[in-house]
Amino acid sequence: MKLKIGAATKIAAVVGAPVDHSLSPLIHNAWIEAAGLDCAYVALSPPAGGFAALVEGMRGGVMRGFNVTVPFKLEALALADTASARANRAGAANLLIFHDDGSISADNTDGLGLLAAFGDQAPGFRPAAGPVVIIGAGGAARSAVAALIEEGVPRIWLVNRTLSRAQALAAEFGQAVRAVAPDGLIKVIGDASAVINATPLGLGGGEGPAAPLDAAPATAVVMDMVYRPLRTGFLERAERLGLRTVDGLAMLIGQAAPSFEALFATPPPDIDVRALTIAALEAEP
Ligand code: NAP
Repeated sequence: MKLKIGAATKIAAVVGAPVDHSLSPLIHNAWIEAAGLDCAYVALSPPAGGFAALVEGMRGGVMRGFNVTVPFKLEALALADTASARANRAGAANLLIFHDDGSISADNTDGLGLLAAFGDQAPGFRPAAGPVVIIGAGGAARSAVAALIEEGVPRIWLVNRTLSRAQALAAEFGQAVRAVAPDGLIKVIGDASAVINATPLGLGGGEGPAAPLDAAPATAVVMDMVYRPLRTGFLERAERLGLRTVDGLAMLIGQAAPSFEALFATPPPDIDVRALTIAALEAEP
């Protein structure tokens, strides 16, 4: 069945700036089509300073909801009337639901996406089994910290270019999270059960973060949130060392699935959206 847009069609959107390269419309519309729903999913980019007005204008269920991406995740949480515990823990929302009574609720499915990606591509990995190194201390790192703490990770080493930012994030999460300057990475990577790149380093090509992956245990899993290219320089280095890898596309799809269920009140149908998104990535100039 092909998408049919009519007067009764229910709409949802991804909102970001920029948003034109988002794979979310492809993923959600493929699920909508396969499930035979009278729904559609679009991409929106508000004018500068216009995110709050866009969200406020949707009160009352004009749209089902928004997935929210860079740079609006913090503002999204602040604008919502209620928020899930995991959105509050992450300090950011990637999902807003517009209810018929005019209220807006916020959630954050990025952490679920991260855990689903490890579940898919590194089966048997348990966050509780050992320390995790996260490179980066921005919004994506924050969601990862919140999800891993929830899963009982004993220690997170937050390695960031700007040490003060890692220190501030670590302070929010208590004793299990410690900030480390980049030159301290060599000291903490030796007993890591996972190493996660949560910076944009490697986006569009290149080596990715300068991490001494050869010092990681042979059992360590290396994850890259960047998925353009799908096999980043960081993941290729890990693969050459024989380490298991997890890619950012698995995380993207992993956060989209619970978002779809919240937006359209039905679980995503079992179709191969990974193959679709890989084809779209390969077709990019
Ligand atoms: P963000 O809030 O802007 O944080 C960026 C982080 O990267 C900061 O820690 C920043 O360090 C660091 N960084 C940026 N440029 C750097 C450089 N040249 N050298 C060293 N460190 C650098 O961004 P974010 O939202 O956390 O996103 C991070 C990445 O994850 C992006 O590529 C995003 O697309 C990706 N992501 C992927 C998914 C997925 O589903 N796969 C989900 C969310 C995010 P400073 O603090 O020193 O500036």
